[in-house]
Amino acid sequence: MQIVAETGRKRALAGMTLAELRALARELREAEYRGGQIADWVYRRCVNSIEEMTNLPSAFRERLAEECTVGLPEVAATQRSKDGTIKLLLRMADGNTVESVYLPYEDRISCCISSQVGCPVRCAFCATGLSGYARNLTPGEVVGQVLRMQQTARTGTPAGEESPRISHVVFMGMGEPLFNYDTTMKSLGLLNREVGLAMRRMTVSTVGFVPGIRRLTVDQPQITLAISLHAPNDVLRKRLIPTMHQWGVAEIMDACREYVAATNRRVTFEYCLLDGVNDGTAEAEELAALLQGLLCHVNLIPYNAVGGTGFRAPSAQRVKDFYGVLSQAGLRVTQRVQRGADVDAACGQLRRAEQTAATGG
Ligand code: SAH
Ligand code: SF4
Repeated sequence: MQIVAETGRKRALAGMTLAELRALARELREAEYRGGQIADWVYRRCVNSIEEMTNLPSAFRERLAEECTVGLPEVAATQRSKDGTIKLLLRMADGNTVESVYLPYEDRISCCISSQVGCPVRCAFCATGLSGYARNLTPGEVVGQVLRMQQTARTGTPAGEESPRISHVVFMGMGEPLFNYDTTMKSLGLLNREVGLAMRRMTVSTVGFVPGIRRLTVDQPQITLAISLHAPNDVLRKRLIPTMHQWGVAEIMDACREYVAATNRRVTFEYCLLDGVNDGTAEAEELAALLQGLLCHVNLIPYNAVGGTGFRAPSAQRVKDFYGVLSQAGLRVTQRVQRGADVDAACGQLRRAEQTAATGG
């Protein structure tokens, strides 16, 4: 307990910008460029502790360690899939946990991160929503997930060989990133400038929070915006996402059109296919009509069944038929390849499984 309390008082280096790290060095009566060296250790070499920052004078390291900690979340559980996917349950300093997923592909390494502890939106089909909501994450906790996963990539790399580097980040883990807008923006900036990831290689997925989309239209970070639509009309959408009825499909589409007009960037629409609910030909046709003429891309996500929701995954034939209607209509469509099928792949499942085990429920 002593250690946790101690850590809680210390400032986390992960989450600080280069300017903040330089100011910290000055505050501790060191040359400003030491801030750049700290940034290099935290964000590029992904160290766990200040002792590892060997190009800092040892007296400075000691002083720094009195005030600060690197502050990466602890790994509470790891699930490794046969396909290389690694799912981590990460524990924050206050004991809250979130999920992050490491996804190696042939041409890139992606990681999926969380923006909140749980999610207040509570979509009817989502395990995260069922696990309850605690709080927003801080920028250090968001970026800390990527740094932890970069470390995970390093383990297993033979000595002397360069470890694979994460090339893409998607905000598709737990939580609604646009409810935690300032943190999401600061995290994108840190990942871009300090970790070295191109903006265009990062995707922010929103349930369709219109005020957030409008802010992105003004701020225009050069990211990919993904909208979790899941329904072409309000009746269906309300059934799947009851808490967001304030913003109907028409208003979301208006916000997206304005976003595309202002940024000239293609929007991705995510559509989670739920058997017999939103995956019929009629819905596909309605969706095709809705998206006609907009610079967009549809990503179909066959449902990853979550116990207790009452929803099921559609058959391969139904997915194929839905896909066919959209592509026939001239839309750009992809189908998300299921990864980590042999682990609790659907986001929120690992945390929920842990909670259920802990409560015996
Ligand atoms: N809150 C944001 C980002 C996190 S969810 C949002 O909703 O967009 C990321 C994506 O995973 C969303 O499109 C969501 O609908 C989808 N998703 C959640 N649970 C799922 C499940 N069990 N199976 C398939 N997709 C799921
Ligand atoms: Fe929250 Fe997204 Fe899950 Fe909905 S799908 S409950 S918005 S994390």
